[in-house]
Amino acid sequence: MKQPEYYLWYYPLDKAYYSECKDKYDGFAISAHMLTHFVNSFSAFQSAINKPYFIDPETAAFQDVNSSRFLNSKGGTRTSWKKLAKYYGSAIAEVLKNKRQLRTTDFLNPDNSFKPAVQELLTQILSFQTSLVKKTVSGLSFFFKGKPSQKAGLQFVVTPYFFFDSLSDPWYRITVEMVKRAATIKGEYPLFATICTTRYFLTQDTNIQTLVKDFNRSGIDGFLIWIDDLKEEDGDSLVLGNLLKLVRHLSSDNKKVINLYGGYFSILAFFWGMSAHVSGVCYRDARAFSEPPIFGGPPGGPVPKYYIPTLRTKVPLDNAMRITQQFPELKCNCLICSANATVYNSNTERSYARSIMNKHFLQCRKIECEETTKANSEKLFETLNKDFTRYTGFEEILPIAHLARWYSAIRDNASSCKP
Ligand SMILES: [Zn+2]
Repeated sequence: MKQPEYYLWYYPLDKAYYSECKDKYDGFAISAHMLTHFVNSFSAFQSAINKPYFIDPETAAFQDVNSSRFLNSKGGTRTSWKKLAKYYGSAIAEVLKNKRQLRTTDFLNPDNSFKPAVQELLTQILSFQTSLVKKTVSGLSFFFKGKPSQKAGLQFVVTPYFFFDSLSDPWYRITVEMVKRAATIKGEYPLFATICTTRYFLTQDTNIQTLVKDFNRSGIDGFLIWIDDLKEEDGDSLVLGNLLKLVRHLSSDNKKVINLYGGYFSILAFFWGMSAHVSGVCYRDARAFSEPPIFGGPPGGPVPKYYIPTLRTKVPLDNAMRITQQFPELKCNCLICSANATVYNSNTERSYARSIMNKHFLQCRKIECEETTKANSEKLFETLNKDFTRYTGFEEILPIAHLARWYSAIRDNASSCKP
């Protein structure tokens, strides 16, 4: 792999970008409940667009104390989750039926041994991922001429995972057990394990060492990372530095590591072994564990955001216009922006401005991923410092503080950077 890959969270309302900007991203992540809901349209889309994808089994969602994410306006269970429960078996069906959260006692006996529910959920979830789209795609394959490229389609299967906040958290033990057992019943697809934890967990070096030992087993081919609500721009340098350490250790046997919610820092983490990151189209580059899936409205929220490439962050359009007026050198000159310069003003209809801004974002992301091969790592790291220094004194109006924190996280971990 010569450059970091970029995956998009699949969301039907963003379909236009997926087709129009097909060469700007590498594949899709799709959540399990969305897949069950849109399985036919996703399968047809997938066959036509022919991109790699993987499925997030979303098992941690059932731990959430707030069960409103599962409910429709009448108080019943949403159809998508109901459909998912059919595939996931008795433990999940029971949770949804009684409108309660999943408990560790669903998987652990009083003497701390594992209940049969561990094996049941594990096998159901692994087979769900390999069978659902395959069945539908083979049914549709008659309509699509030409062989799909080898790289397209389901890339790997993800083991069930739960959110944990310490090594002594019973959910940690349950997740590790699922990973261990998954490795022994692995089928034809590569197997990925998910690490879903807090920033605080990442501040302890000993946590990282133990976690890597427990998760990095033979039979496990890669890892997904989800750090609760870690927006890279807000992360302190210790947490981000330890994220680099974690990635470095997990990728030591050339295993793939993918950040489920990330941005430009995850691209730089390529030099420590991060193979890919996932986000929405200029949204959802961080996610809190308790944050529900997106329901209705534009996927990026009501206010469209503009990605300022030099500052490696996005800001609401009005801010972006003020900023680029005062600092014209921050204006983007990518293909999209050059062709649509007049769009960036307050009179443009919002949804149209959003569509141009999102395409600009995808264009920037592609360039950023490509730059990691063309430029050397040192040059990219020093650019962070250079841009921060250049705008020091304007912190009140320019979002730049993260550039210094990223630089410091990188410098603190320079010795473990991959050659
Ligand atoms: Zn641009």
